[in-house]
Amino acid sequence: MDRPLRVAIVGSGPSGMYAADALISQTETPVSVDVIDKLPVPFGLVRYGVAPDHLSIRSVRDTLDKVFDKPGVRFVGNVEVGSDISVGKLHGFFDAIVFTYGASRDRRLGIPGEELDGSVAATDLVAWYCGHPEADRETFERLIPSTTTAVVVGVGNVAVDVTRVLAKTLDELTHTDMPEYVFDTLRESSITDIHVLGRRGPAQATYTTKELRELGELLDADILVDPTDLVFDAASEQVIAGDKAVARNVEVVKEWATRIPSGKSRRIHLHFMARPVELRGDARVREVLVERTKLDGSGGAEGTGEIFVIPADLVVRSVGYRGQALPGVPFDESRNVIPHLDGRVQNANHEVIGEYVAGWIKRGPTGIIGTNKKDAVASVASLLADASKLPTAPFATPDDFDAWLAEAGVHAVSNEGWRAIDAAERALGATHGRDRTTISTNHDLLRAANLICD
Ligand code: NAP
Repeated sequence: MDRPLRVAIVGSGPSGMYAADALISQTETPVSVDVIDKLPVPFGLVRYGVAPDHLSIRSVRDTLDKVFDKPGVRFVGNVEVGSDISVGKLHGFFDAIVFTYGASRDRRLGIPGEELDGSVAATDLVAWYCGHPEADRETFERLIPSTTTAVVVGVGNVAVDVTRVLAKTLDELTHTDMPEYVFDTLRESSITDIHVLGRRGPAQATYTTKELRELGELLDADILVDPTDLVFDAASEQVIAGDKAVARNVEVVKEWATRIPSGKSRRIHLHFMARPVELRGDARVREVLVERTKLDGSGGAEGTGEIFVIPADLVVRSVGYRGQALPGVPFDESRNVIPHLDGRVQNANHEVIGEYVAGWIKRGPTGIIGTNKKDAVASVASLLADASKLPTAPFATPDDFDAWLAEAGVHAVSNEGWRAIDAAERALGATHGRDRTTISTNHDLLRAANLICD
């Protein structure tokens, strides 16, 4: 080929950025990469998923951002593949496409009352406090000031994140980049109690120790664990003996179970062996019916029929993310992922030429940010191995793609546009004495990118 291989990466979260980096950092095959995102800003869940008070994890952004400084990597934001441009059309401009659009939807509990007002997905709450342009501000700004008791379902890291953010004082959050309206709402919060429900035992929880420990170190929230919830069967003991991380998690909750509450304004009640079976209320959720569970000897848990009730005005369902299908791309409906073999997209056991996948939409929503690096590098290795036999795209210059977008009336955000947004967010943060404040509407982001004016 007498020109660089043109690759589109669909999704600019960690796996997309790691894929771009892997493509541009090798020297054997000259490559030109466009990282396309439906939002005007890059970095996906690093921007809109990682808790704002986890500054060291959020600083991964700076590492990812350096990829845009490398020649041959372009950001193409505010372009939704599947609506602004179809996957089929994209093939006209790129020799290969890597899908890295993640898994941003919530999983459901499937219990009665789940649709009541006041029952929300953790993904939506996180999107709101991170300043996502599509966040439902009205709902959270109404619910949080009118909630006394919240129930968080699930004991993964997302459940720990939302619990911590709801339990923290404003002073503990003031250094974050959350939009001003989030501070205003949290200032009005009337939450005193947060119940966190794990349906299995402490040896089966999926949070990590560092994140868990933070719940016991909050300025104005006590942590309460009922010692009778700390149930371990032979299978649990085996896991504890063989996995140091699990053993540490168990030690943390055992210590908490000995603590006497010190009279702080908020309480976090961490429950195990407890699963919600129904949400009840009027228009709004008012109570959660919780069934006690017992371990089934093989790592799972089953109901005992014993029910207790937790009065609650807010239920946050933090039971995992799920991926979504993209029109024109094969999708495994049972696992909510794009089927693949070594990162090559598969359609009914046939390879889809020129399509690759990496990250959560490839393997499901698991692992830490760094897990996506190895995953993306592996998929890119498959792409590069195929490079010489990929059909060449007919309109394969950045100018061709830009011209098509402009003609279609799409205001694409370029590297320069993103840099302008970045500078505007830093300037906005400085007005509040912070490093950065997130700009939270598409309109304001596009204005900051100098794409619209008013
Ligand atoms: P997760 O770790 O899979 O946790 C989901 C939780 O929901 C589990 O406790 C699960 O219990 C529970 N659950 C699922 N279905 C349920 C049901 N029907 N009823 C009751 N409980 C149910 O997922 P996540 O917390 O959404 O996190 C996603 C990924 O992002 C994870 O890999 C996580 O580590 C990562 N993450 C990392 C950080 C960080 O490093 N600081 C922060 C946020 C997220 P079972 O285990 O019994 O199924």
